[in-house]
Amino acid sequence: MKAIALISGGLDSSLAAGFIKRLGIEVVGLHCHIPFYPRPKKQVLSAQEYVRRIGTDLDIEMKTVDPGEDFLEMVKNPKFGYGSNINPCIDCRIFMLRKAAVLMEMEGARFVVTGEVLHQRGMSQHREAFQNIDKESGLEGFIVRPLSAKLLPQTIPEKEKWLDRDDLLGWSGRTRKPQIRLAEELGIREYPNPAGGCLLTDVGFSRRMKDLIVAGGFRMDDVELLKWGRHFRVSPQAKLVVGRDRMENEQIAGLAREGDYLFMPIEEAAGPTVLGRGEINGRFIELACKLTCFYCDNSGTINPMDIVYMRLPDLREFRLAVSPLDSREVGRMRL
Ligand code: SF4
Repeated sequence: MKAIALISGGLDSSLAAGFIKRLGIEVVGLHCHIPFYPRPKKQVLSAQEYVRRIGTDLDIEMKTVDPGEDFLEMVKNPKFGYGSNINPCIDCRIFMLRKAAVLMEMEGARFVVTGEVLHQRGMSQHREAFQNIDKESGLEGFIVRPLSAKLLPQTIPEKEKWLDRDDLLGWSGRTRKPQIRLAEELGIREYPNPAGGCLLTDVGFSRRMKDLIVAGGFRMDDVELLKWGRHFRVSPQAKLVVGRDRMENEQIAGLAREGDYLFMPIEEAAGPTVLGRGEINGRFIELACKLTCFYCDNSGTINPMDIVYMRLPDLREFRLAVSPLDSREVGRMRL
C-alpha cells in the first residue's frame, strides 16, 4: 500500500507523512516548490533544504515539482479568492493536490496525505474549505488528513479498511504542543518556525505583489525580485528597485535581465544598485538617477552627483549629474 504525502515546508505536513508511514504504509513525499517561499537566511533552513532533510529524517522518497507559470496564473485570479493578504490558500491547495493526483496515478498509490489541521487556519482549514478542495482537486474521498481525521467525514481509505480510524488523530485549532511531541516521536530533528512560511501571507510582500498583478504581464523572475530591496512604482509600466545593502545590491544586479537598466553612484560615492524595469524613457532615467542619489551615503554633500547607468545586455556606461530626489516624491512612489 502506497500513499503520496504533500510536503509543504512546514511541520504539520511532515508529521502527517511520518504518521502514515508509521502505520506501515509506503509514503512518497511531494513538494511543490512555489516561488513564494522567503529568500534564504543564514542559519535558517530554506524550504528546499528542509524538505530534503525531512526525506532523510522520515526515510521516505521525496519528489519536487516546479509549479511553473500556471501557479502565477492561479495567484492572479483565484476561484475561491484571497485570505487576509494576497494568499489564495484554497486554490493553492487545489493546485498542489492536482499535482499529487498525477503522481498518485504514476506511482500506483492509493490515496493522498496532507498535514491540514481543522480550524488551524481561517481560510483553508475548515470543513467547507476541505469539501471544496477535495471536490475541485478531483480527489474526493481520497485525501486523508491524519492529524484531524477523527473530526472529519470518513475517507475511502478508512471505509476500505486500508486505514483504521482509531489509529488516526483528532487535532483541532492552533495548539503546538502535540505537534512538537509527535515530531520527537518521529525523529524529526529540525523544523521551521510556523511564522516563517509563505510570503503571500506577508503584508508588505502582498502590497508589492498586488502592484505587480495590476501592472500585468509579469513572470516568475519578477516575483523573485520582489524579495529584495525597496520597490517604487514610477509609472503604470515602469518600476525601480533599490538595494539596501551590499548583498541586496548583488542580488538585484544578478536578477537584471535584457532590457533592464542598472543605476549606481560613481566609485567615490557609496550607494545602492538600482534596477529599472519596464518602459524606460528620458524622464524615467533622470528620476532613477535622482532616486539613486537620494539613497547614496553622501547624498547632499556631493551635489550634483554623477550617477552611472547602463542598459542590459549592453554594458556601455552613461553618466548623469543629478541632485537627490525630493523625499516626498520618494514616499509617493514607494510600494
Ligand atoms: S499560505 Fe501560501 S503556500 Fe500555504 S496554502 Fe496559502 S497560498 Fe499556498
